[in-house]
Amino acid sequence: MHELSILIETVRIVEELAEQHNIEKVGAIVLQIGELSSVVPQFMQEYFPLVVENKPIFKDTKLEIEILPGMAKCQECQTEFNVVENEGYCPKCRSFDKDLLCGQEFLIKEILVPNG
Ligand SMILES: [Zn+2]
Repeated sequence: MHELSILIETVRIVEELAEQHNIEKVGAIVLQIGELSSVVPQFMQEYFPLVVENKPIFKDTKLEIEILPGMAKCQECQTEFNVVENEGYCPKCRSFDKDLLCGQEFLIKEILVPNG
């Protein structure tokens, strides 16, 4: 359940940013999570209300999560493919030897401020 500690850290960073920019209310936090990262988006959503409880700037704040695809390049035939969709195997030559290109990210993409 490391999502909880990741989420606490994320909220702390957003709080700091909000303070630096005199933001009194956060409308939404947009995260980008790679599908090969070890973070489970569903847990993030479940824990979010608990983590921001008692923090007025996060009242009614939405947590939005964008999933980034996990892509790899086959070491045998250089084909680029989606790791999850192909269960880790190159769809062309069925090799399991690959270099990961992306999909392990965890980023705070943006913080949205409500209108008005
Ligand atoms: Zn291949």
